Amino acid sequence: MTSKIERACLEKGLKMTEQRRVIAQVISESTDHPNAEIVYKRASDIDPKISLATVYRTINLFESFGIIGKLEFGEGKARYEIMDEEEHHYHLIDITTGHVIEFYDYEKEIRELKEKIAQKLGYKLVDSKFELYGIPLNQHGEE
Ligand SMILES: [Zn+2]
Repeated sequence: MTSKIERACLEKGLKMTEQRRVIAQVISESTDHPNAEIVYKRASDIDPKISLATVYRTINLFESFGIIGKLEFGEGKARYEIMDEEEHHYHLIDITTGHVIEFYDYEKEIRELKEKIAQKLGYKLVDSKFELYGIPLNQHGEE
């Protein structure tokens, strides 16, 4: 079966090796925004010959082609996910578990607000970050 990332690679003319195909499949099937070590662990369950160096190289390659996105949540290890141009979303990071929750609400409002601020400061917005960090309300009490 051809994974979503593999299809994106083929569209961009990237040569697919068997190991690249496995790494593409692992990231395509992951919904938890895994870091490179977790991708490596999952990939080596499928093909034990895959090395961590290959995983890093392949991740960098996919990233440089805009196929996957790099996320940095201050954990010291970057996480990755498929880039989806049509369905942009933001992340809330549960700091008690490290769990990453995606949300699509207010996407338009957030985007417009960022553009408005940049414009007001005399800039054209070319990139930005917007992440929420939280602790679950039900565990820490709504007084
Ligand atoms: Zn995400």
